[in-house]
Amino acid sequence: MLSDIKSFTREELEEHFRSLGEPAYRVGQLLDWLYVRRVTTWDAMTNLPKALREKLGANFSLQILELARKQGSADTTQKFLWQLADGAFIESVLIPANPALYGEASDRHTLCISTQVGCAYGCKFCASGLDGFKRNLGVHEIVEQILATERWNESVMREKTAEPPATNHESRIVNNIVVMGMGEPLANYENLMKALKILNASWGGGIGARKITISTSGLAPQIRRLANEPFQFRLAISLHGATDEVRNRIMPVNKKYPLSELTAACENYQELKGRMITLEYILIAGINDSLAQILPLAMLAHKLYAKVNLIPYNKVEGLPWQRPSEEVCEGFLAALEKQNVTATLRREKGHDIDAACGQLRLKTEREMAGTA
Ligand code: SAH
Ligand code: SF4
Repeated sequence: MLSDIKSFTREELEEHFRSLGEPAYRVGQLLDWLYVRRVTTWDAMTNLPKALREKLGANFSLQILELARKQGSADTTQKFLWQLADGAFIESVLIPANPALYGEASDRHTLCISTQVGCAYGCKFCASGLDGFKRNLGVHEIVEQILATERWNESVMREKTAEPPATNHESRIVNNIVVMGMGEPLANYENLMKALKILNASWGGGIGARKITISTSGLAPQIRRLANEPFQFRLAISLHGATDEVRNRIMPVNKKYPLSELTAACENYQELKGRMITLEYILIAGINDSLAQILPLAMLAHKLYAKVNLIPYNKVEGLPWQRPSEEVCEGFLAALEKQNVTATLRREKGHDIDAACGQLRLKTEREMAGTA
């Protein structure tokens, strides 16, 4: 199988072009077609000689994500179900900017991207893990989620204005990335790092490292590894419980890396990067929403200089878990704030379209299998 052109860095492409006997400036032209104009065929790269296009086609694949299904919600959160070249499905979610969430205020959008087909970590509340793990996404499949979303937006704009879409970095809709879709990003470490390098590079996606947030369920050794990378990515921990007792009940990963290990790895990250960590805390009725969690959670947050994002649970079809009442959620927030913790409560966007990742894929696969 051919390697995909979008899985290489500029340096690697220059190396390939040298061995193909092509001048280096052609790489710049190619990258412009891929990441600025976001074309979908070799033939669209009209300033590359036909012979070179043929050579590229013989040496590399140029895979495009196919939009299989889209859900848009009233508050304009859009959920995309993409079909990959092998037929598997993944999701990305486009969320209008919310200054209170990941990072500073912005007038544009955050794209939540997937890193695996399915997930092996089997958190009890999560749709992504329900049908187990299929495979890691390739570098190009991670990168393509941003490009395919931009193409979708261009086509919508084109319908609206009947003008040719602008094709430059400024015309982009996605300016924040959260790696919080399907899969455990740090379990696909190499591909994730390379994809983020491409998305971050000025010759590639041009998205600042500070606008990229990686979320993990708590893979302590990989958090330490990430701390030593030369990138200032933001880190979010899916905590969902401030004691081992609670985490063990809902997140099997905690048996492997208990809170003491996870906390030490986060401290290491915080010290090396000097960046504020985010602790994600889904509120699930009767599981982790008791005020007994407040003190241990506040202690953790202070120790890690972390802020806490409270997220009322999104109901997953077929799972017994429920979101707590609004009063319980607000009470939890108030109790945390009383402990001087910086905390936000997501007054959910996209709840009406099953925004938690993994749900659209699950629904579609079950419908296809005739079990929905
Ligand atoms: N595997 C990584 C990233 C993907 S999950 C991780 O676990 O961090 C992204 C976030 O969505 C996680 O915080 C996860 O716990 C949360 N999540 C999963 N199912 C959810 C649901 N039904 N409602 C709300 N959040 C959910
Ligand atoms: Fe996997 Fe994250 Fe879902 Fe857990 S919460 S099953 S780690 S995707």
